[in-house]
Parts: sequence; structure tokens; C-alpha cells
Amino acid sequence: MLTIAISKGRIYDEAMPLLAGAGIRPTVDPDKSRKLILPTSRNDVRLLVIRAADVPTYVEYGAADLGIAGKDVLVEHGAGGLYEPLDLGIAKCRLMTAARVDHRQENQRLRVATKYVKTAQRYFADKGVQVEVIKLYGSMELAPLVGLADCIVDLVDTGNTLRANGMEPGELIMDVSSRLVVNKAAMKMKPQAVAEFIRQLRDTVLSRAALA
Ligand code: AMP
Repeated sequence: MLTIAISKGRIYDEAMPLLAGAGIRPTVDPDKSRKLILPTSRNDVRLLVIRAADVPTYVEYGAADLGIAGKDVLVEHGAGGLYEPLDLGIAKCRLMTAARVDHRQENQRLRVATKYVKTAQRYFADKGVQVEVIKLYGSMELAPLVGLADCIVDLVDTGNTLRANGMEPGELIMDVSSRLVVNKAAMKMKPQAVAEFIRQLRDTVLSRAALA
């Protein structure tokens, strides 16, 4: 049995056509079911539907053999315990700083609201900028509007969310896309199944890239 951890939403939607290329189609729609373990058209494959930030943890501890997670999540988690064999080229966006269009720094020490605490701390430390990082779990764009923070570190795709809230992107921290990650023990315990799955997925990713 191969267990693959994935999060709902954009990553799930964009990964499904890739998994279909490996003959894997969930037989239950996660948006219509409360099931957290989804059976698939392949008897030897099941999906775990979990929070994006939890995917590396499930894979690192071997509760899932494989996972699909954004580079942002992997960098924040510290992906040393995982293999990352394949860039799937899906759910692309950028991790950026952003601030109000009319931002004027009031706090002596820059206050940064984000759910990417470690990544933000490392980014500003590398620049030699002293910051106070405030951990939030969502709707980061709100923080500068109500004086909680000077700026945010968040994912930007079209920039519409920032614009709708009177904010603008600042500096690029990293380009983000979803990656396949693999548990290190699964690579040794189920080498054939894992290698075959990676090969099928890689073929699908390459053929889609050739068409693009
Ligand atoms: P946008 O308005 O298109 O710039 O998208 C920004 C919003 O969508 C922010 O709330 C982001 O956290 C979220 N977002 C953008 N791209 C992604 C992605 N690839 N994965 C998850 N969330 C994303």
C-alpha cells in the first residue's frame, strides 16, 4: 500500500490530473465527504487529506510514504528529513513581503505578521534587519490595516488580494511550486512501488511541460 498525503484546495485540484497520469483517481470527493482517508481507483494507493502545513510531518514520520506540498511549507518545516525528488510545477506563486501602499514605518523595530515565522526570521536576519515576527494562522493581509504589523510575509499569486486591501508586494523571498516528497524509509522498504510512482509522475510532469 502507498499512502500519499495532500492538502485540499489548489494543490489538490492541480495535482489530481498528475495523479491520474499514474492511474490514481480518488473514488471519493473530499469536498463532499468528511473522510480523511480517500480510497482510489488503485487498490494499492490511498490519499490522506490534511492541512498543507502537516504534510511534511506525516511524511517525515512515515504515516504517509509520499506527500505533495508547497516549497513554502517545506522550507518553513525544514525538509531535511525528507527526499524531494520532483518539482511538480503546480500551484505556482511567490512568497513575498507586502505592505500598505501608504505605509510609513512607525514601530522602531519592523513588525512582520506571517505564518512563515522561521522563513521570515531567516530572511530578515540574512539582510541584517531587526524584526519582530508575529505569528498568524490566516488572513495576514488584515494585520497592517489595523496596526498589528508594518508588513506581512505571505504567498502572492495574482496580487488581487493585496490590491483589494490597499497593499502592494515588496520583496521576493522565494518562488513557490508544489513538490513531491518521500519518506526516507519508504524509499528503502518499498523501493519498487515508490520508484515506479515517481517515474510515472515525472513522465506526466515532463509531457505536460512539453505541451505548455
Ligand atoms: P492572489 O490574490 O491571487 O495574489 O492570491 C493570494 C492569496 O491566495 C493569499 O491569501 C495566499 O495565501 C493564497 N495563495 C496564493 N497562491 C497560493 C498557493 N499556491 N497555495 C496556497 N495559497 C495560495
